[in-house]
Amino acid sequence: MDSVDLVDLDFFGAIVEGGAGVVRGRRASVCEGVGVDWRMGGLVAYLASDVLVISLPPFPAVSPFPDSLSASRHRPTVLPVPHGGDPGSTLLRNRAGSVLSCLALADSQLVTRLVPHITELSSLPLVLHLAVRDDLSDVLILRPSIPFVLHSSTAQQAHDNALLASRLARTEKKAVLHIFHVGESTDSVQEVEEGKVQPFLLQEVPRSPPRSLINGHPNGVNGHGLNGANGHSDDVLESSDSITNELYKAYEAATWSTVALTRRPVRPIAPHSSSATSPHTILLTFGRPPAFSDPLEGVSVLAVSLFSPLPPAKILRAIPPSATRVIVLEQVQKWPVKFTPFFLEVASAVQSADAETKPTVHPSVLGLPDTIKSVDVLKLVQQASSGVSPLHLGSFEDDSQTPALPEVPHVPKHEQSYTKILARLFDGRLEIENSPFLVAAQGSAATTPEFALGRVRGELEERAALVRAVQALLDHGDVTAELHALLTRWLLARDDPVKSRALGAEIVPALEDANVEDPAVARILMLRHHLPARSRWIIGSDAWAYDLGASGLHHAIASGLDVNVLVVDSTPYSARARADPARRKQDVGLYAMNHGDVYVASVAVYSSYAQVLQALVEADRFKGPSVVLAYLPYAREDAPALEVLKETKMAVDAGYWPLYRWDPSKEGEEVFKLDSDAVKNDLQAFLDRQNHISQLVRSRPELASELVGSLGESVKEARRRKAQKAYEDLLGSIDAPPLLVLYASDGGKAEKVAKRLAGRGKARGLSVDVKTMDSVTLEDLAKEEGVVAFVTSVAGQGEFPQNGRTFAKAVHAAATRAEKPLRGLKFSVFGMGDSHYWPRPEDAHYYNKAGKDLDARLEQLGAERVVQLGLGDDQDADGPETGYKVWEPLLWKALGVDAVEVSEAEPEPITNEHIKVASNYLRGTIAEGLEDNTTGALSPADTQLTKFHGIYQQDDRDIRDERQAQGVEPAYQFMIRVRMPGGVCRPDQWLRMDQIADEHGNGTFKITTRQTFQFHGVIKRHLKPAIQDINRSLLDTLAACGDVNRNVLCSAIPSLSKLHAEIYEFAKGVSEHLLPRTTAYHEIWLDKKLVAGDSLKDVEPLYGEFYLPRKFKVAVAVPPTNDVDIFANDVGFIAIVEKGHLVGFNVTAGGGMGVTHGNKKTYPRTADVLGFCTVEQGKAVAEKIMLVQRDNGNRADRKNARLKYTIDRMGLETFKSEVEKLLGWKLEPARPYSFDRNIDDFGWATGEDGKHHFTMFIENGRIQDEPGRDFKTGLREIAKIHKGTFRLTANQHVVISDIPSSELAKIKELLAQYKMDNLSQTGLRLSSSACVAFPTCGLAMAESERYLPVLIDKVEKICEENGLRNDSIVMRMTGCPNGCARPYLAEIAFVGKAPGTYLMLLGGGYYGQRLNKIYRESVTEPEILAILKPMIKHYALERLEGERFGDFVIRAGYIAPTTSGKEWYDRMGGEGEHREVSA
Ligand code: SF4
Repeated sequence: MDSVDLVDLDFFGAIVEGGAGVVRGRRASVCEGVGVDWRMGGLVAYLASDVLVISLPPFPAVSPFPDSLSASRHRPTVLPVPHGGDPGSTLLRNRAGSVLSCLALADSQLVTRLVPHITELSSLPLVLHLAVRDDLSDVLILRPSIPFVLHSSTAQQAHDNALLASRLARTEKKAVLHIFHVGESTDSVQEVEEGKVQPFLLQEVPRSPPRSLINGHPNGVNGHGLNGANGHSDDVLESSDSITNELYKAYEAATWSTVALTRRPVRPIAPHSSSATSPHTILLTFGRPPAFSDPLEGVSVLAVSLFSPLPPAKILRAIPPSATRVIVLEQVQKWPVKFTPFFLEVASAVQSADAETKPTVHPSVLGLPDTIKSVDVLKLVQQASSGVSPLHLGSFEDDSQTPALPEVPHVPKHEQSYTKILARLFDGRLEIENSPFLVAAQGSAATTPEFALGRVRGELEERAALVRAVQALLDHGDVTAELHALLTRWLLARDDPVKSRALGAEIVPALEDANVEDPAVARILMLRHHLPARSRWIIGSDAWAYDLGASGLHHAIASGLDVNVLVVDSTPYSARARADPARRKQDVGLYAMNHGDVYVASVAVYSSYAQVLQALVEADRFKGPSVVLAYLPYAREDAPALEVLKETKMAVDAGYWPLYRWDPSKEGEEVFKLDSDAVKNDLQAFLDRQNHISQLVRSRPELASELVGSLGESVKEARRRKAQKAYEDLLGSIDAPPLLVLYASDGGKAEKVAKRLAGRGKARGLSVDVKTMDSVTLEDLAKEEGVVAFVTSVAGQGEFPQNGRTFAKAVHAAATRAEKPLRGLKFSVFGMGDSHYWPRPEDAHYYNKAGKDLDARLEQLGAERVVQLGLGDDQDADGPETGYKVWEPLLWKALGVDAVEVSEAEPEPITNEHIKVASNYLRGTIAEGLEDNTTGALSPADTQLTKFHGIYQQDDRDIRDERQAQGVEPAYQFMIRVRMPGGVCRPDQWLRMDQIADEHGNGTFKITTRQTFQFHGVIKRHLKPAIQDINRSLLDTLAACGDVNRNVLCSAIPSLSKLHAEIYEFAKGVSEHLLPRTTAYHEIWLDKKLVAGDSLKDVEPLYGEFYLPRKFKVAVAVPPTNDVDIFANDVGFIAIVEKGHLVGFNVTAGGGMGVTHGNKKTYPRTADVLGFCTVEQGKAVAEKIMLVQRDNGNRADRKNARLKYTIDRMGLETFKSEVEKLLGWKLEPARPYSFDRNIDDFGWATGEDGKHHFTMFIENGRIQDEPGRDFKTGLREIAKIHKGTFRLTANQHVVISDIPSSELAKIKELLAQYKMDNLSQTGLRLSSSACVAFPTCGLAMAESERYLPVLIDKVEKICEENGLRNDSIVMRMTGCPNGCARPYLAEIAFVGKAPGTYLMLLGGGYYGQRLNKIYRESVTEPEILAILKPMIKHYALERLEGERFGDFVIRAGYIAPTTSGKEWYDRMGGEGEHREVSA
C-alpha cells in the first residue's frame, strides 16, 4: 500500500480533473492508524454527493478517500476550499445538486465562516461532515440552526452515519450535520459497496422498520425507560414540539433504510460500556465516550448519536427506572456560557417524566476519553452524589491552545460570556480598544469610549499608511516577481482576516530577506502588526445609554469608522422599573438605527447563542460602525446562571429585549431581521416611521410592503384623515375650553358612552381629548387645565375595568399616603353598573363601586368636583341612559356650553350591521390585517368579520395584567372552530387535527358542544397556515361562527347504523344548503384569487349583504336520545322513525340559550314544535325559517336578535304562517315522539351492520395528554390504525365508530393501554359539561372548564355518601351567561358572574325538555356545597321510583318549574323555606 504524507490542493485538483485516486504523480491511499474516520466520511461523501466541498487542514494530512474509489463510476464535482476559507459560499454557489456534501475540520475558524450562511444552508440537501478533535464546542454552535445532527464516535459509526446523513439530506431536502472524530483508530470497518450507495439514496421510504431493527430495540436502550414505555420503533414520541416529532420520524425512516443496507443497528442512544442491569447512575454521553473497559457496579454509560432532533421521550426511554442519578457528560471544553448545550434538554426531559421519583441530573464536562479509567468514573459519581460542582471527567487539552483573553483587572463574571465569545470568534485578531488591561499603562481614561475611539482612529490611520506604503513599493520599488505577487495578493485580501494574516506572515520574512533599499520597506516593517485585518471592539455598559451624547457612544456611531461597539445591558427584566427612576435610559439600538449607516444588533447569549455569533460576525464584517446590544441580566455578580437564564427568557418573550439584526449594507436583501417573536412598542414605532420605511423601500421593497402596505389602503387613508383632522382640531380649538374624557371599560359600553360624550363636547366647541384612564399618570393629570370627565363601568366585585386598573391603583396609593397631587383639577365621574347584579344586601356596595370609589378618592387627592357623581343603572327604565341624561347637561353647564345650540346630527354609532354591509361580503381588511406584523391583533371590525370565517380573536387572560404592566399589548391569539356537520370525521382528518393543534395551537384541542373541533392559542401568523391545513384535510371553518347558520348537529346514535347514515347525510345537506356563498373565505385563507378579478361580484342568495341578525343553529335528534339538546336550537329536526324507516321530522323552532346578567329582556328559551315535514322537505323548511328570521329579527339590538325573541315578538302562529307562506305549503301536524335522556350512551355498542362503536368519556371535551391520561396520544394511536370514523358528540365526548370486528381487538388494546376505556366515573361526572371560559374566552367572567372537574370532585363525594354514585345528574357550568355549554337545560347549573362566584340554577329537565331557574344569584364554592349537601341527601331519601333530580327539586319545593322562556325570571330565588332571603 502506498502512503501519502501530504494532502494538498493538488490532490483535490486531481480528483476534479481525473477522478478519484488519480493524483498527479501520487496516489491517495490509506494510511494505517491515522484518520481512518476521515476516510469513512470521505468515502460516503464522495459516493453520495453531486457536489463535494473539501476544506482540510494541511497538517497532518491524509487522504480523505480510500484507494477503492478509483474504481467508482460515480464522479461528483469536488471543490477544494483552503483551510480557513469559506466553504459556505462555495456550497451556496453550487447548490443545484441533489446531495451536497462538505468535508471539513470543525475548528472555530470554519464555524465562524459557516455561521453567516447557516440559515440558507440548513434548507439545502446538504451533509456537513465535520471532524472534531475531542472537543465539540465549536461544531455545536451550528446545532440550533441545522435540522439533523448526528454524532459518530467510532470509525464504523462514522461510515454508517455518513450513509444515514446522506439519505436524510436527500429525502428531506434539509441539511444534516454529521460530527465525527479524527485521530488514531485501528478499528476495522465494513464498508458499503460503492455500487450500492446511489440506489440506497434513491430507494423508496420503507413503510416499516426491517426485522433486525425491530429486534434491536433501536429507540430505547433496554426497552423500558423512565416513563415505562417499551422501546419499539413505532413508539409514541410524546414531544409537545411537533417539528421535533416530524424530524424524528424522518430520521427514523432513514435509519430503516440504512439498517436494511448495512445490517447493523442504528440507535439514537446506545449503551457503551457493559452496563449494569439496574444501574443507579447513568452517564449520558454527548461526545466520544470514555474508553475504560472494566464494568462498573451500578453505572451505565450511554452514548448519544442523535443530537438533533432528540425528543424528550427518547431520552426518558433510555434512562432505566432504577436510575437515581443522570450525569450529562458533554465534550465541550471551551463552551463559553454556563449551561452546556444538552444539560437543560436532559434536565427538562427528566422533569417532564411521568415517574414518581425522578433521578437528579448533573452537568459535567468530558475531557479526553482515552485517558479515562474506571476509577475516574467512580470518583465522578462520588462527586456528583456529594454535590460537587462543576464536574469534570478526564484530562483536558493544554490550555495554552485556547485563545488567551486579554488579561483585565476585573470583568464581571457573567459578562465574560461575551468577551469569551469575541476571543474565540476573532482568535488572534481581536482588539478590545478600551480594555481595562490598558489602565496600568494609559491611566483610568483608557476604558472610556472617547479614548477607545481615539485609539481606533489612530490604528486605522496607521493601517491606511501601511496600505499606502505597500502600494508605493509595488509602484516603484525594486522587488522580485515573487515578492511583488505576494504584496499584490495581500493588497487584494487585506480585509480578509485569514488571508491577510497568512500573507502577512509571509511578507515580513520575505521583506527582511529581500534586502531592498526603499523607505517603503522600512515603513511596512514598522507597521507590520497591521498586516492582519483586526476586529476592533469597544465594550461598554448600559450606563452609556443614560446620556448618549456625553458617553461618547454618539461619537462612535457618528464617526463612520470601522469600529464595533458592544454594549452589555445587565438590568434584570424584573428590576427594570426600579433601575432608573429619575433618569431615562435611551434605546441605543434605535438611536443607532436612526443614523442610517450603522449595523445594529440586539442579542442575548442566554436566549440564542447562534444569533449572538451571527450578529458578532456580521458586525465585524460591516464596513462602518456597528453597535451590538448584548443582554446579560444579573442583579449581583454571584447571581446563579439559572437566574440569568430566567430573566433573559422573560425579557425576550415579553418583547422587552427583542432579538434583531439591522444591516443597512444588505442592499436588496432583508435589512431588518427579527430573531425573536416579540418587539417592544418603540421599536415597532420606529419600523413604522416613514423615513425608515423609505429606507426599507429603497433597500427591500417587499419588507416595506410588509410593514406598511399590510396596514391596508383603508387603514392608511384613515390615518391620513385622522392626521388632517387632528391638525384641524388643533387650529379650531386653540381658544376653546378643554375637556379631557377618561374612560375605563371592559365590554365597550363605557367606552361608547365616553366617546359619545367627547363627540358631543366637540359639537359644543370644546377642545376634547378622549383616552383610557391607564394612558395617563397622576402627574399628567395634575397639569390638566380644563375639566376631566371620567366614565367607568365596573368589573367583577366592584373592581375597575382592565384599562383603568393601573390608574385606579395610583389614585388609591396616593390617597393612602394622604397626598394632594390633584389640587386644582376639576372633575366629574359617571359610573355605570347594575344594581341587581349582586342582589344580597351584604353585596350591595359592589354596585357601581368603581365610579363611587374614584369620585371619593379624586376629592381626597385635592381635585375639585364640578358635577356630582352620575350613576347609570342597567335596571333603570332606559338602562344607564336614565342616569346619564341627568348627568351630561350638568357637565355642559359646568363648562359653560349648555346654551350652545348643536345643529349637526350625531354620527350614528358603528354596529355589527354596518360592519357586515361594509365588508364586501366578509372581506373587510382581514387580508391586510394578517400581513400587519406590528401587532398580534386584527382591527376591531375585522374581529367581527373573522367570526364568519370560524375565527375568534382572544387573548391569554391569565397574563393580561402582567402584559399590561409590561407596557406590551395583550397576548393576542385566536380560536379556530372547524365546520364539521354531524361531528363525523375520518381517522386521517383526526390525525391532521392533532397535528394542527401541535403546530399552530396550544398543543391541545377541544371537542365543542356543537360537535366540532376548536383550536386555541393560535397566533396571528399561524392563522392562515392553520386554516389551510384544515382545508387540506377536506374540512373548513366557514360559518363555524358569525351571524350565519353554524355547525349542524346530529345525534351520534352508535347502535342505529342505517339511521345514523341517513340523518348524517341530512345534516350535511342542510349545512351545505345554508352555507354562505361568499368567495372571501377562499380568497383570504386559501389564496384563491377571483378569476375575473373585481368584475366578478359575490352574491349571497340566502343571506344578502347584511347576513342574519344573529347566529343561527340547527340540530337533528333521533328519539329517544336527545344528545343534541334539540330544544336549545333555533331549528330542530326530531327524526320520526316508523317501522324502522326514517319518514320525516317534527320541526322545532325558537330555542336558544344566551342571556345577559341583569337584563330581563334576555332569557333562555326552549324551542316549540311547529309540525311535521318529510325528509325531502327538511332543507326547505330550515331555509324558510332562516329567511323569516333574516327579515324579522331585531337588528337594532343584538341582545334581542335571536330567533327566540323574534318568535315571541311575532307570536308562534304568525311566525309559523310566515314560514308556510314562503314554503308555499303547510306543515303537517307533529307526530308522536319521546325522549328519555340528553347524555351520551358510554361504552360499547354494536350497530345493525355488525360494526362496533365505543363512546368514551373526555372530560369537558379537552383532548390533551395529562399525567396518567394520555388521551391525545392514545386517540392519535387509534387514528393511525382505525378504519372507521370518529363521531364527536354534542356533550363533548367522542365515539370511536364503525370498527370492523377484525380491528376490535387492536382498538380495545389501545383503549386499555391509554386508559381510555375507563368508564368508572360517577354518574354525575359522566353527565357533566363545561364551556372553555378562562384563559382564552374573552367573555368569561369566571372559570368553567378548569373548575368544574374540581367542583365535581367535591359534589360526587356527597353523592357517594348518599348512595348515588352511579346516578346520572346533569350538571353544567359556563363562565358567562352566553350559555355555550347549554347550562339552562341542566338539572343543576352554574353560570359565572365574577371570579369564584356563580349564578346557581336548578330544575332543568333530564332530557333537555325544560329550562331550569335561578335558585341563587351569587354563590361561591362553600355555599354551593352547603346547598347541595342536604338537597342531594333529601333526593336520595325521598325520590320516587325513577324520579330525576331536576323533577325532584320542583316536587320537593326547592324551585318552581319554568314553563316558558318568557317566564324564566318568575319565581326565581327558590320556593318557600328555600327562598333566598334577599330575593
Ligand atoms: S359560555 Fe361564555 S365563558 Fe363560556 S365559552 Fe361561551 S362565551 Fe365563553
